[in-house]
Amino acid sequence: MNITVRVFLLALLCVVTEFTASQSSSTLSDQFRALLDTSIHCVIGAWCWYTVVDGAGVFQILICGFLSSFIDIDHFIAAGSFSLKAAVSLPNRPIFHAVLAIPVAALVLKLVSKLFLACVNQLSLPKDFSCLKSLLPTLPWLLVIAWSSHQLRDSIRRGLWFWPFGTLPPTPFVVYVVFIAGGSFLLNWILKVFLKKTETSDGASFYEV
Ligand SMILES: [Zn+2]
Repeated sequence: MNITVRVFLLALLCVVTEFTASQSSSTLSDQFRALLDTSIHCVIGAWCWYTVVDGAGVFQILICGFLSSFIDIDHFIAAGSFSLKAAVSLPNRPIFHAVLAIPVAALVLKLVSKLFLACVNQLSLPKDFSCLKSLLPTLPWLLVIAWSSHQLRDSIRRGLWFWPFGTLPPTPFVVYVVFIAGGSFLLNWILKVFLKKTETSDGASFYEV
């Protein structure tokens, strides 16, 4: 699927998912509303990766979707409880929802990946693990795309949180769609032009970061 179609479908997905969420929010229980919200984050994050990376592997797309939902774990960490009610009624926004958390977490992941790869390269891994070696250098990028898409979507209601400076007003819906779709298009171009793309043995692509 070419990049223009992928970007168009991403914008359409943003519109359809938000419309669905707004139409059904009053009729759903708290649990189902949270499940729907998490699923939307997952689908948008996954499609962002599919848009940004030409020839992205299914495994990477799934991981990006997972990371996009996983960020909300900080609600439960901050609440110190698995209770949904406690997690959604925090007095402050939890730490992974700060914009600064994205580069910090990506850098930490990059360091951990490099360290892990250095150890792994000393061992001769079975063939099944070769996808892990190709995935690790891509993980920081997966996290950046997943968490950015999540924070942008959250910002429709709560604005982007630029800790320690403050929070922007809620992002207009049109700006959200333009940022997600336009940002994915721009990143697709940046990756193609500036980074080295490598084909893995299973036919997926990844970029050296
Ligand atoms: Zn969130």
